[in-house]
Amino acid sequence: MKPRLQVTKSFLPPKEEFFSLLGACWENAQLTNNGPLLTGLEASLNSYLKAKHSICMSNGTVAIEAAIEALGLKDCEIITTPFSFVATLDAIILKKCTPVFADIDPQTLCIDPQKIEEKITPRSKAILAVHVFGNLCDVEAIERIAKKHSLFVIYDAAHSFGSFRDGASVFRYGDISTCSFHATKVFHTAEGGACFTGDDALAKKLRGYRSFGLNENMPEAVGTNAKMSELHAALGLCNLKYLGDILNKRRAATALYDAQLPRLKKPLYRHEEVRNYAYYPVIFKSEEQLLDVTAALNGEEIYPRRYFYPSLNTVPFLDKKQNCPVSEDIARRILCLPLSVETTEAEVHAVTSIINKKV
Ligand SMILES: *Cc1c(COP(=O)(O)O)cnc(C)c1O
Repeated sequence: MKPRLQVTKSFLPPKEEFFSLLGACWENAQLTNNGPLLTGLEASLNSYLKAKHSICMSNGTVAIEAAIEALGLKDCEIITTPFSFVATLDAIILKKCTPVFADIDPQTLCIDPQKIEEKITPRSKAILAVHVFGNLCDVEAIERIAKKHSLFVIYDAAHSFGSFRDGASVFRYGDISTCSFHATKVFHTAEGGACFTGDDALAKKLRGYRSFGLNENMPEAVGTNAKMSELHAALGLCNLKYLGDILNKRRAATALYDAQLPRLKKPLYRHEEVRNYAYYPVIFKSEEQLLDVTAALNGEEIYPRRYFYPSLNTVPFLDKKQNCPVSEDIARRILCLPLSVETTEAEVHAVTSIINKKV
């Protein structure tokens, strides 16, 4: 049987708009390598986000790796959150750094700044924090700690596209912010991602890294191939135009869920105005209750997702055991309900009536 409702559904622009942008691409036969669609997308992102440098990449995971590389982080400890998608952790390990977990705040689900300070050692070089579900981290506290201890700050802002504060995207925080443009995200290019920075020298390093470490065709530093193709950039240019509409529809569906699920706990958003309605997470009393609700939903072909489970400090490929009781507890009890630009009132009602019978 065909699944009825998934945790999300990708936005797709009208086909003709996509094909019309690709027309130029067929004319000039440039499919990748800094083509006009890619440079156009980067310029549009700079202007929409009020960013100085938007550097598109092939995905959000390699964007984090690029940030770590550009900041020269190696053989060091990176303090990070245990409550994220596993890609945040993968990037640290792939870059041969040691992840040190600082537990999260039980209300906001973002890394707890006080716990960061407790984890600092002489080997700490950076903080890699995540604006979980688009909930802005305590960026001021994190900046104070980073300054005091001479640490770099990277934000994995994969959930924060369309989050603005004081008129500019939250991608401006940290030395570098990264984003994912994966098909499941609020803004997407099917596969894709980007780094954002206000620092010219870092921007140059990030651009070099995504293209084999070349500088004017000569190898200068170690790099990889993390380029975004013209086809992906074209999809991004089409989708960007619809972002206002996408955010409005997600906000409306979120308000319906909120009204219909009064008994369930949700994350506390530190700044209501920065929300981009990227996910609809709910926190159950217990894992048993979560599993009971999930089984009932699945019975009606409704497929929520356990974002994020398990807590990253418990994955089997870490060298040493680290405890993060808050994250471990939340990870067992949190579930993301179906939310997309197409979510209808009837769908929200179908989901919430099943849940409300169980909680
Ligand atoms: C989606 C996601 C990523 C990975 O992005 P990809 O584009 O899929 O590689 C990284 N971090 C977080 C928090 C994410 O949600």
